[in-house]
Amino acid sequence: MEIQNIKCSVAKKCGGCQYQGIPYQDQLKTKQKKVSGILKKYCNVKPIIGMKDPCHYRNKVHAVFDRDKKGNIICGTYEANTHKVVPVDECMIEDQISQEIIRTIRDMLKSFKIKTYDEDTGYGLLRHVLVRRGFATNEIMVILVVSSPVFPSKNNFVKALRKKFPQISTVVLNINDRKTSMVLGDRDIPIYGKGFIHDVLCGCTFRISPQSFYQVNPVQTEILYKTAIDYAELSGREQVIDAYCGIGTIGLSAAGKAKEIIGIELNKDAVKDAIINARENKIKNARFFQGDAGDFMETMAAEGKHSDVVFMDPPRTGSSRKFLASLKKLGPSRIVYISCNPDTLAVDLEYLTHNGYKVRKIQPVDMFSFTEHLEVVCLLTKDK
Ligand code: SAH
Repeated sequence: MEIQNIKCSVAKKCGGCQYQGIPYQDQLKTKQKKVSGILKKYCNVKPIIGMKDPCHYRNKVHAVFDRDKKGNIICGTYEANTHKVVPVDECMIEDQISQEIIRTIRDMLKSFKIKTYDEDTGYGLLRHVLVRRGFATNEIMVILVVSSPVFPSKNNFVKALRKKFPQISTVVLNINDRKTSMVLGDRDIPIYGKGFIHDVLCGCTFRISPQSFYQVNPVQTEILYKTAIDYAELSGREQVIDAYCGIGTIGLSAAGKAKEIIGIELNKDAVKDAIINARENKIKNARFFQGDAGDFMETMAAEGKHSDVVFMDPPRTGSSRKFLASLKKLGPSRIVYISCNPDTLAVDLEYLTHNGYKVRKIQPVDMFSFTEHLEVVCLLTKDK
């Protein structure tokens, strides 16, 4: 039997993989049908680009920590729509080394007398562990999400962990003392290494901080970005906006083919990463700004500025009306929309196609096998 047909033992309880037990080729067909159904009224939807190996693609692995009824320390995922923790030993979409690190941490807690956090009483220390691995660099960041910054024998803990996994390049304490389901709190304290890792994409090196967004499937991300940059048809003369730019991945990968890149991003840590990423890659024609992309575009439009190409890669909720109205005013000849949600993409396409643009190409890329998610690259140009 093909590996992707094997059903995960906690599939039902975890709820993370909606397509468990379905052969990968059938998953792709389902996604194609769904995305075509939503978007074909704007343009013919190209065949989805699937993964060569649909397993263990996630470079970011998260586990929530708790105790079972017998008091044993467990780690895994929240049962769908609840706060009950389902123990997960092996997940077929997550990076295997990162999973091994999490299991090792679980087994170390007792001897270090570290208590897991209890959501009801607010007692205990360790809430979650997040591991991020640069697949190209093999640099690993371990984030210990804790309720208080006092972590007993932290140096010995790091030493013991790194003895087993010398490739761990940084360990960060993230302080989350809030009673919310948000995994990360606001404060990051590196207790080993520099507090960030690097990865390589499209020939550029990217620094990634704990709070910065970074695509979870780097193999498919290269395909996604290359498609987006290809659609932009850059000649070296263009003024380019990279909206919702994260750590600058798309803009910096395109910088060599453009006159100027201007990136805009809300998350402060991500913008800081983007500025440093430009410098570390010796890219001199890229600038990054922190703020709301809609506000930024509105100001640019009000100042009578022009843009030739706009890359936009908003979160699942899609873009804002303010952003789209300003985009129309800036009047780029090409808009390359990268979307992780075809439903909100359709809402934004509805606006743009009624405001002077026409959809020319739609390319779905599968970045999330076994789940219902996918990415779409969409090219719009002016409707002459
Ligand atoms: N283009 C990047 C990031 C895409 S994810 C990449 O490919 O890695 C979407 C990004 O939009 C996140 O980094 C998020 O922090 C940012 N974001 C969310 N709301 C925003 C807003 N209103 N204005 C600007 N950026 C926003």
